[in-house]
Amino acid sequence: MSLKGKCGVVTGSTSGIGLGIARALAGAGVNVMLNGLGDALEIEKIRSKLEAEFSVRVLYSDADMTRPGEIKAMIEKTFAELGGLDILVNNAGIQHVDAVDAFPDEKWDQIIAINLSSAFHTTKHALAIMKDSGWGRIINIASVHGLSASPFKSAYIAAKHGVIGLTKTVALEVAEQNITANAICPGYVKTPLVEAQIPDTARIKGISEAEVIRDVMLARQPTKEFVGVDEVAAFALFLCSDDAKSITGAALNIDGGWMTL
Ligand code: NAD
Repeated sequence: MSLKGKCGVVTGSTSGIGLGIARALAGAGVNVMLNGLGDALEIEKIRSKLEAEFSVRVLYSDADMTRPGEIKAMIEKTFAELGGLDILVNNAGIQHVDAVDAFPDEKWDQIIAINLSSAFHTTKHALAIMKDSGWGRIINIASVHGLSASPFKSAYIAAKHGVIGLTKTVALEVAEQNITANAICPGYVKTPLVEAQIPDTARIKGISEAEVIRDVMLARQPTKEFVGVDEVAAFALFLCSDDAKSITGAALNIDGGWMTL
């Protein structure tokens, strides 16, 4: 079965992994609701380019993933204006690095809201629509940090572990209704944000950019290569296919071997 004509929401799709997934979905004929922060003119450029390139409808919602009311309105807008909601990708996420005993309360709350609670709110409202149509795909972008820990990332790691728990529970609740829910757990992905940090880190540490990549960023990634945004996007697209209908409740790592260590 082709995905052509289906409708999807990708949270946090104004850059990085979310944009890559939105692009892959549009390329498969899916009408897409984009979401995320950023410059309005830049976002409009992204929206109109995707629409023109793939001949699908692409809309944008500026819903803030810390606000349940705005999340509900985004899901309602998707249904009202795209005519359905078959694919939900919970991707929006932020990071903050600090020791637990120095971690700012407001950063903890913000990370839990964006990286975990937003996936609950989108799923809650999207499920009614998916149950009605008898088909659905929910993909939560977790992380290897949903399966393992590193110091100084308490809120992120708690949220990503939580996302995997939410994924499993949703998968069980809708297992008999043609709706799957899975978590993708990437290792280090080469997004524009990550790329931009390489020269600065090299300068600060007084080492080469190649050393920053191999010894700092990819210290825990055995392949010593970043995961590509396009690889994560292709994986998400596969999970939307009928060939993946028996994959549900899974936390699937795409991590260059990180989780084997
Ligand atoms: P990114 O910063 O490029 O993208 C994050 C997106 O979330 C952006 O579109 C941003 O506007 C949006 N966002 C942030 N706060 C928001 C809010 N309050 N409301 C709505 N949107 C908001 O980052 P990325 O690297 O592409 O990360 C995407 C997801 O992948 C995140 O959940 C991240 O934890 C996860 N991830 C990333 C990596 C990596 O190495 N880059 C690895 C594993 C998991």
